Amino acid sequence: MRRLRLLILIGIALTLAAAPLRAQEDGSTGAGAAPVTHVVQAGETLFRIAMRYGVDVGAVALANGIADANDIYVGQELTIPGQAAIDYAGYVDYVVQPGDTLDTLARRYGVTVAGLAEINRLVRKDALFTGQTLRIAPPGDAPTAPPGYTYVVQPGDTLLDIAQRCGMALDALRQANGLPFDRTPLLYPGQRLTIPGDASAPPLRALPDPIIDFTLDPLPLGQGGAFSLRLTTRRPATIVGLFMGRSFALFADDGRHHAAVFGVDRLAPPGLHTLSVYLREAEDQLSAFETSVLVTPGSYGEEYIPVPARLQGILDPAVTGPELALLAQYMTPITPVRYWDGAFSAPSGGEVTSYFGTWRSYAGQFETYHAGMDYGAPAGAPVRAPAAGRVVFAGALEVRGRATILDHGWGVYSGYWHQSEVYVMVGDIVTPGQIIGLVGSTGLSTGPHLHWEVRVGGVPVDPLQWTARAFP
Ligand SMILES: [Zn+2]
Repeated sequence: MRRLRLLILIGIALTLAAAPLRAQEDGSTGAGAAPVTHVVQAGETLFRIAMRYGVDVGAVALANGIADANDIYVGQELTIPGQAAIDYAGYVDYVVQPGDTLDTLARRYGVTVAGLAEINRLVRKDALFTGQTLRIAPPGDAPTAPPGYTYVVQPGDTLLDIAQRCGMALDALRQANGLPFDRTPLLYPGQRLTIPGDASAPPLRALPDPIIDFTLDPLPLGQGGAFSLRLTTRRPATIVGLFMGRSFALFADDGRHHAAVFGVDRLAPPGLHTLSVYLREAEDQLSAFETSVLVTPGSYGEEYIPVPARLQGILDPAVTGPELALLAQYMTPITPVRYWDGAFSAPSGGEVTSYFGTWRSYAGQFETYHAGMDYGAPAGAPVRAPAAGRVVFAGALEVRGRATILDHGWGVYSGYWHQSEVYVMVGDIVTPGQIIGLVGSTGLSTGPHLHWEVRVGGVPVDPLQWTARAFP
């Protein structure tokens, strides 16, 4: 029943996604420390940007290593040569989250919209994007809004809505504004309410009912990276998201605090991408919200892997193709249980010999990127489960050798290739640190090493990110 409802929701999400979306938002941040940087906005050309700063277009191209003037993307940071650097000491960097607007940020930080737009060289004041970094003036230089900040009542707002969005008690809000306690106060659009607190008070956001809070982490999103979505709703709801053509479910034990993890493809085009969420409440009440999210390019190296003649046959697409399809079959289904908790530990004590995302040329036969990372451990060294999970594959593959795949739940999988021994069986539940096999050199491998990869929603992501922090 639950699965059927999820499928229906995904169907709705895909149908809505096919409908024309409103024009992509654009926006810009400006001004870095020395030298000055400009963030490309929708519709800008390199020529227009150069003209705006009164510098030569060739100089801008040269300063940024741009060979083709058309080869720029929204969100790209350009160095503007020959500009006087501005001292931003004391300024705060704020990364825009879904639902932030210049209005809500100005209220939160006690600064003016005009000031924010000026400092950040924003052309369009209505078009922030998620993941954009804004500079915010230190309180000393800005018009202050003591204490706390002011909220301007919007049509349809109730006092309870506003209190929940600000993360404060209803009575405290009544008290701060001299509102009656014994009856429901009448609010009118445009009414100004004092929100007690300081700059650390939670931001007000322009999020539609029933969404109270919505964060993405980390921002901006990088190619080949995973990110967490956390969303709180005022009332219980079921939520599916759609991003980069892939739909995904958000999980919530209590129906109100929703979370999911999502992987950005290593080859995803940098720039703005629309993230949509579709909410379904009781009695089939449907609502949706979308935001433009910045995806930034990753910086990855390249390497050439010499393949001995005896292994060349394995590079045949007739061998590699079906094996990739097999992996996709095992590493894509979404288990609604979350087995893992906290950051992953490294599956091997060996030294890292190759990182995720590196461009690779195998014997000049084909170009691809490294979908995992390699540990240079000696043959027979232990391979440990980095987190709790369930074994969904344990067997021999032609390219990947003796392989194990763990399902960590919520669409997160990890794979261990080229082992000499596999100690687990399909269906086993493994615990963090458990020895699941031994390092070897089976399959397409030129020496003993462990290849470890992590996939989220079917997309390979950087495993090191999973050892560095906890998701979601
Ligand atoms: Zn590898």
